[in-house]
Amino acid sequence: MNCPHCNSPLSFIAIDTTDGQTKSIDECLNCGGHFLPPYLANFLSIETAKNVDSVLPKSKTVPSSSPVCPKCGQNMSSIKDDSVPGNVTVFTCPNNHGDFFPIGQLLQFKKAQQAKIYYHKLWGIPLKSAFAVIIPLVIVFTAITAMPTIVKQLSITQETRIKADDILTPPLITPISSTQVLISFSTKSPAKAQVRFTEGLDQTFAISQTPQSNHLLNVEGLTSGTLYKYIITLNINEKLTTTDEYTFATP
Ligand SMILES: [Zn+2]
Ligand SMILES: [Zn+2]
Repeated sequence: MNCPHCNSPLSFIAIDTTDGQTKSIDECLNCGGHFLPPYLANFLSIETAKNVDSVLPKSKTVPSSSPVCPKCGQNMSSIKDDSVPGNVTVFTCPNNHGDFFPIGQLLQFKKAQQAKIYYHKLWGIPLKSAFAVIIPLVIVFTAITAMPTIVKQLSITQETRIKADDILTPPLITPISSTQVLISFSTKSPAKAQVRFTEGLDQTFAISQTPQSNHLLNVEGLTSGTLYKYIITLNINEKLTTTDEYTFATP
């Protein structure tokens, strides 16, 4: 695959995501740009973004033409909405093949994203609204409007609800497709978090391996039209709290 911007060959680099997975992204050693799969930018820590963007490019000139998607050959357009500040340039494929960050832009984007999340937390705006600023692609909002009824949070017992509500916000399920959802929630104090599925899937995900307040998990490979149940375990200062079951269904 060649660089969307300068057409030099891309090389793979492996990165660790904030939800404990290892993914590969494409790096251009000529212009220093990076091509990332859709949504992956949301799952990188600032430290990872800093490492990734520390590449020393051979060429200092950034092409003036717009980049071309290496998967489908269509022109990538720069994202001009709330999710990307005006001084940061991120290009996205119209067919949702991924995002291209010219050199330095990934780190700038992550810093802006982090600042915006802190802002929302500081002003007590729920993560649901904050979500609008942390997913850089329009498709998510389309998915939410098109499928408003698919998410069912089953009621949990009063006692547990009060206990859990003291510690975390109710998880928000954002459907990406019929086989992929994002699970997000905030904790009042920084916590390590893991999600264990109890129905529909036999898997445990470590979401936050270092204590933090915003938690985001990407679950792929689900089955369409299926009920899933999961519990969240929080580790706050080595004290473990486990929530009751939460439920969602895929469309
Ligand atoms: Zn390049
Ligand atoms: Zn494409």
